[in-house]
Amino acid sequence: MNAKQSYLMPTYTRQNVSFVRGEGARLWDEQGREYLDAIAGVAVTNLGHANPEITAVISQQASLLLHTSNMFGIPWQEQLAQKLCSLAGMERAFFCNSGAEANEAALKIARLHARVRNIANPQIVVMSNSFHGRTLATLAATDNRNVQQGFEPLMGGFIRVPYNEIEALRDLVSNKSIVAVLLEPVQGEGGVHCASPTYLSAVRQLCDKQDWLLMMDEVQTGMGRTGQWFGFQHADITPDVITLAKGLGNGFPIGACLAQGKAAQLFAAGSHASTFGGNPLGCRIACQVIDIMQRDLIPQKAAQLGQQLLAGLCRQLKGHPDILAIRGIGLMVGIELNYPAIDLVSRALTEQRLLITITRKQTIRLLPALICTAEQVDDIVFRISRLLATC
Ligand SMILES: *Cc1c(COP(=O)(O)O)cnc(C)c1O
Repeated sequence: MNAKQSYLMPTYTRQNVSFVRGEGARLWDEQGREYLDAIAGVAVTNLGHANPEITAVISQQASLLLHTSNMFGIPWQEQLAQKLCSLAGMERAFFCNSGAEANEAALKIARLHARVRNIANPQIVVMSNSFHGRTLATLAATDNRNVQQGFEPLMGGFIRVPYNEIEALRDLVSNKSIVAVLLEPVQGEGGVHCASPTYLSAVRQLCDKQDWLLMMDEVQTGMGRTGQWFGFQHADITPDVITLAKGLGNGFPIGACLAQGKAAQLFAAGSHASTFGGNPLGCRIACQVIDIMQRDLIPQKAAQLGQQLLAGLCRQLKGHPDILAIRGIGLMVGIELNYPAIDLVSRALTEQRLLITITRKQTIRLLPALICTAEQVDDIVFRISRLLATC
């Protein structure tokens, strides 16, 4: 069991379970009990726990070189940038260590775009229900009072509009201070809400017309999660900037900000930096993640498994009196309940030996590893329906 966590800052509500070992979509706790993991470390361990091919490159690279700094060439960083850019239709990459940092880089690119356009008081349009991280800039971009509470004054320069409503964005065209739009293709923390492809195409057109950068936060949706390499690929668009982190290193911390077109030309020597960003170990791991995903057609598999998961949940939970909606795309699925359900996390854990998360108080969010088996997807459906049958 967890020791009393008296030396940790109490920023998290933790379950009273500690895992010591994992394999694929399964975990074992200190008592040797087995669990089915339907959250993958919050969309991080997409290729499974203790993936042997990832373990092998970590061990091999660790015995060669961990870190040198960005004062020198880093061939694995060059290779990773090339792979990511060709998959995403981007031209340049900046590497960092987390999602919030990747978004910070994007926000700084937007500020430089404002400078080029001679806009003194630049504004970035963000969405209702958004989540972009916990640094001072990204929490201001986030639409969640709990995240912002206590940290005022919030950084300015953001205008918020309703998500997935193009008219709200069109209403802003007379505002000449706007330089960028930042949004998630699917809002994960916001309760699993998908932007429609027609909305994203209309946002792209508007951004082109107004010279706004279209910046997509793919920290959660990127790397195959939604059944495409990147969430924006469900629409026929290319953003100017995308940010990645979570699944990129399969659990090793690495983030990236990718850009194309004029957005790729804005950072120059000295304008941004990260000590650990793009280190040989992280980049080699991410290269291996991509190689495995390409070889094993992981995004396509995630799309199939996601359909199976969504269909299974809809079938099993049909007519359930407490369910408002079941929605999602790929292996990013939400079950919205009509009551606050935070306690379901611990009940799922102890009664069903299943890891789930709850977002926005009443939406169960499922983010299983992209390599889970069809049997494991059925097992998730089975355990969820048992859990909700007893509520
Ligand atoms: C998790 C997440 C972040 C923050 O990533 P960190 O690595 O925790 O900083 C930002 N944006 C989205 C969409 C996320 O899901």
